[in-house]
Amino acid sequence: MDQRQFYINGAWIDASIVNDFGVIDPSTEEVSATISIGSTEDADRAVAAARTAFDEWSQAAVEARLAPLEKLHEFYLSHRADFARAMSQEMGAPVDFAAADQFEAGACHLEETIRAAKDFAFEQKRGKDRLLYQAIGVAALITPWNWPMNQVILKVAPALAAGCTVVLKPSELAPLSSMLLAELIDEAGFPAGVFNLVNGDGAGVGAHLSAHNDVDMVSFTGSTRAGILISKAAAETIKRVSLELGGKGANIVFEDASADAISDGVLGCFGNAGQSCDAPTRMLVQRSIYDQAVKTAAQVAQDQKVGSGHEAGDHMGPLISKDHWVKVQGLIETGIGEGARLVAGGLGRPDGLAKGYFAKPTVFADVNNQMEIARQEVFGPVLVMIPFDTEEEAIAIANDTPYGLGNYIQTQDSARADRVARRLRSGMVTINGDYLGADMPFGGFKQSGSGREGSVWGLEDFLEVKAVSGNTWLRLIR
Ligand code: NAD
Repeated sequence: MDQRQFYINGAWIDASIVNDFGVIDPSTEEVSATISIGSTEDADRAVAAARTAFDEWSQAAVEARLAPLEKLHEFYLSHRADFARAMSQEMGAPVDFAAADQFEAGACHLEETIRAAKDFAFEQKRGKDRLLYQAIGVAALITPWNWPMNQVILKVAPALAAGCTVVLKPSELAPLSSMLLAELIDEAGFPAGVFNLVNGDGAGVGAHLSAHNDVDMVSFTGSTRAGILISKAAAETIKRVSLELGGKGANIVFEDASADAISDGVLGCFGNAGQSCDAPTRMLVQRSIYDQAVKTAAQVAQDQKVGSGHEAGDHMGPLISKDHWVKVQGLIETGIGEGARLVAGGLGRPDGLAKGYFAKPTVFADVNNQMEIARQEVFGPVLVMIPFDTEEEAIAIANDTPYGLGNYIQTQDSARADRVARRLRSGMVTINGDYLGADMPFGGFKQSGSGREGSVWGLEDFLEVKAVSGNTWLRLIR
């Protein structure tokens, strides 16, 4: 595989126009690979290949679609170290974290999609009538850089299992793991044209696919900003649009929370260097334990190790890019300017890290939920702490955001946990640090998106439902 090539119609081919783009390793700031930024012509070629392959693939028996997907699962599992290295190189995730978490998330979703598709009734009887669940058509899959294999597999696997043919456009900042996946897809025995990959940027290939006449659906994960542009571009052709967007999760810590709730919450916010859409970035703490919670959070942030993505260990890696580093610095500056109390971290780089896009693990206390740092998705290791008095007030603060992806509750009172979980306006609620299984839906309320990924919900996202009547002749009575 030449990294400048695209995978179209079952072969690696050259870009139609030379337009090189350096993939920067965020730990070293060096170019680690060169890809091509595709043109509209490249996107058209991929869409045409997907269109040609669609009829046969969508009409194949589900077992025939799942056989190469099962092969892909097997191949994927045997390349853990390769994927971990690729993700570390393209987006800075420390190798151990990339192998254990980033890689594993993709593996779980591949396995769960295959399981869900085997169980799914693509044809259902309703009295004398039938429901047929059929593939939507050609799907454009547009993904971000922050959890590359998690996000790509959450789209590719259900789309192919449903019978769609696809054009994947991964983030231009982190395309390497997707290219590795395409190599495995090539070996897994999918018919030519079923899966295609074109690299490119949002304004070029991304926007072109979103508006394309011959694309039936866009499945997008990324920022709310781009999600709005994609929805508008897709509106002209009434495409199906599925959106997984940003978040600003609240972590509500009641006074009876477990002893580790504060430190776990801080580490949860700093996971993946704070670059997770469902990160618990607003810590709401009941006033009776607030002062101690601030001290604990500051200490955890000061103790947080930061280092290269290429080093083993459980440290935090760099941010994705220089632009993003500058954006995060700007928001930290805004927080200071708004009068939030900086208790750990702040502006600049951590000591001893002169190169690489490293940010300091940062905690702001005494934050008001109307401040910019409480409203905007920072997407960096920046935690804001907000005190509250009552359960009612905590719910109101948590819900006072345009987002609604993941929220968190810490309490030993299970009746209270249940009450609060029901009232939080988000697609996911996590109680006492438990995690949601791969057989649960992933997605958000409000401006965090529309549609759900994962398991049977991910599969249904790529399916149309067709109502077919029985064939008994009934006289129409006027
Ligand atoms: P981004 O929106 O800048 O880019 C995401 C993808 O969209 C990239 O492939 C990009 O090239 C493409 N793109 C950008 N503009 C486009 C346009 N106008 N038309 C078509 N495609 C376009 O996001 P990012 O910086 O890569 O990722 C970070 C964002 O993703 C954060 O906001 C984060 O919350 C969100 N995210 C959401 C989820 C979720 O499941 N809800 C998961 C991960 C990340």
